[in-house]
Amino acid sequence: MDYVVRATAAKGQVRAFAVDLTETVREAAKLHDLFPLASAALGRTMVAAVMIAADMKSADNSVSIIIKGGGPLGNIIVTAKANGTVKGYVDNPYVDLPLNKYGKLDVRAGVGIDGMLTVIKDLGLKEPYAGQIELVSGEIAEDLAHYFWSSEQQPSVIALGVLVNPDSTIRAAGGYIVQPLPGADDQIIDKLEKVVGQAAPITTMIDQGMRPEDVLDTILGDMDLRLNDRLDYKFLCDCSRERLEGLVLSLGKQEIEDIIKKEGKAEMICHYCSSKYLFGRDDLNRLLDLAK
Ligand SMILES: [Zn+2]
Repeated sequence: MDYVVRATAAKGQVRAFAVDLTETVREAAKLHDLFPLASAALGRTMVAAVMIAADMKSADNSVSIIIKGGGPLGNIIVTAKANGTVKGYVDNPYVDLPLNKYGKLDVRAGVGIDGMLTVIKDLGLKEPYAGQIELVSGEIAEDLAHYFWSSEQQPSVIALGVLVNPDSTIRAAGGYIVQPLPGADDQIIDKLEKVVGQAAPITTMIDQGMRPEDVLDTILGDMDLRLNDRLDYKFLCDCSRERLEGLVLSLGKQEIEDIIKKEGKAEMICHYCSSKYLFGRDDLNRLLDLAK
């Protein structure tokens, strides 16, 4: 089972999160039939979202990350809850681009850099909290670090990675977030930059069999690392036939009438998990009566 670990270090001056999300990203790739580039972009966003959600207080709190970069992948939307579930999708899963100059999947070119990253946190209050930045990199980790800095005044070191096999299956996915808290010694920040700069890529660490605890130990092991807790995560969508009925209703009376006349049925697909819901003539007639 995939899980996030939460930790502190340097006598509480640093907090940290790490996750191995390999199985969850594998499930997303399977459900959405993702090409490698889409797996990398959606997977990185999911890895980030679960670490943010794992820090939320109550089980029904959630965080959504919405990336609209103007690239060929289209929009990327992920929602993770503090209850250990995450769901998400990318508009165009079948995008294939040349590798970048480092021989890696060119996430930046797929996502685009002409757009926004939005983070919406639903903490069960009247209004959700929303923060937004212009994309600075399109590689997602840097963009998210920029978001933390400009929206939450929180300096962060963020690594997000997805390693895809030649046959498009997912080999490893995971990441970490390390954040010096307000008042942390400059020395600690310097040291963090140094150890993170020397660390192996996150996908290499996970591919070598390192657990999230081991990843944090590699980075913060000699800084009085204290592991706090772990939270299991899996891909789970909360869609239902009732929710998709709402989608049919939102088409409006005229459109539903047209569908009944022309097709006699409608197949609605949940964006988040690609589940299909079939509505036959009787269903559509019933919904037509409800539609405005
Ligand atoms: Zn769904």
